[in-house]
Amino acid sequence: MGLKLFNTRTRSVEAFVPRDPEGKRVAIYCCGPTVHNFAHIGNFRTFVFADLLRRYLVFKGYEVRHVMNITDVEDKIILAARTSGISAQEHTARFEKAFFEDFEVLKCAPPHETPRATDFIDAIIELIQKLMDRGLAYQAGDGSVYFSIEKYKNAGFRYGQLVNLNFDQMRVGERVSADEYEKESFADFALWKARVADDASVFWPSPWGEGRPGWHIECSAMSMKLLGASFDMHLGGEDLVFPHHEDEIAQSEGAGLQTSGEPFVKYWVHASHLLVEGKKMSKSLGNFYTLRDLLAKGFDGREIRYVLISANYRASLNFTVESLNGARTALARLDESLGKLAEIAGNQQADADSNLLAAFSSAMDEDLNISAAWGAVFDWVRETNRLLNEEKIAPNKAAGFLAAWARIDSVLGIGARRETDVPSQIGALLDQRQAARKAKDFQRADALRDELKAAGWAIEDTPKGPRLKRI
Ligand code: AMP
Ligand code: ZN
Repeated sequence: MGLKLFNTRTRSVEAFVPRDPEGKRVAIYCCGPTVHNFAHIGNFRTFVFADLLRRYLVFKGYEVRHVMNITDVEDKIILAARTSGISAQEHTARFEKAFFEDFEVLKCAPPHETPRATDFIDAIIELIQKLMDRGLAYQAGDGSVYFSIEKYKNAGFRYGQLVNLNFDQMRVGERVSADEYEKESFADFALWKARVADDASVFWPSPWGEGRPGWHIECSAMSMKLLGASFDMHLGGEDLVFPHHEDEIAQSEGAGLQTSGEPFVKYWVHASHLLVEGKKMSKSLGNFYTLRDLLAKGFDGREIRYVLISANYRASLNFTVESLNGARTALARLDESLGKLAEIAGNQQADADSNLLAAFSSAMDEDLNISAAWGAVFDWVRETNRLLNEEKIAPNKAAGFLAAWARIDSVLGIGARRETDVPSQIGALLDQRQAARKAKDFQRADALRDELKAAGWAIEDTPKGPRLKRI
């Protein structure tokens, strides 16, 4: 069975066919964070979705190259740095570091490349130059360089591939210099913004004078530089469809680097926004959460990831703190079954249970229907518990289930029971025992085992290494 995805460009669910003639390699670009502040859990819904899609492609046997940029020059950043009185670079470095820490807590696989916009200024200038050479960009009286929608349309291109636009409203040559704007106020947008006093030290030399790039051109330049002028998939949250992605198409296709007839991006896939307590997240409503806020409430990355991937990416997802308690209960049920299966399986190895794998992948193939996939997992947990109660699971069967779960979890990224459940001094004893065993000091290893036992913990040696279990 093949994967199907909803392509915003064609507004339909399509069979996924990579551009690679061998059908193997897949190139993905996901718009990364604007590092002006801590990312909120809405941002993370999009990044966790990108991670899930990437992992599922790997599960299907594709070789994925995943690029996620870091937007470290943009209007919001300049403003935030100015307000906090530090340089933009110090400001973005701090939040970039925080972002990757959070990313790891949520078990998102590191992208293969995470380019920073400020490291690609040359590529950005080169691309703007190309648009100037082709007559699609112009320098305005304010010194900034703009993309001309009129010229682009006159050259036979289509502006409005991802959204419908009302061109009757558009006045030729009208300009918008902000990085973010509404569909109703679309106009020629800034590629290069001439230096102004508020930019402080954020400027670079260019053929059009000192200034800084607009947000949209950054992604066009970085994605094409790293993945080529045409690539398979471009991801982001639904708010990026317009203007950001529409403008990316205009810049990238306007520069004419693609082989004729090929689009810049084959599949545009967008995640719906996360609502919190039924509303759009906002500081004034008190429903604004960063990952750190939730960790401070005692939840862990595993529980938060579970909630973020519990709904289909195109469905609205209403995040509530209560849903994290639900995640804890659901994961405890899963852990309990997995723990019992591990006890039964012992050292036995077996092929992955094909029914469980098929139920999971047939759900995921349908536009990444994760809620149906979780449904299949929990049906299996229920059935497993019934069989466990009746003591009807043989070691071979248990090993087959565990092997299937390991494959499924390579996509879900939920992992095993959280380590923080094991007090740190207990974990340290286990580490010491491992070290003793490695040094072939079996007497000490046994003494440590006894010490753990006295503290109420048993060590189970599993094929994946030792596991601690409360006695
Ligand atoms: P930004 O850092 O603002 O550029 O956003 C990073 C990513 O988060 C983008 O792909 C946005 O579309 C996405 N995003 C922003 N708000 C939300 C939200 N409430 N739910 C889901 N994704 C969001
Ligand atoms: Zn982008």
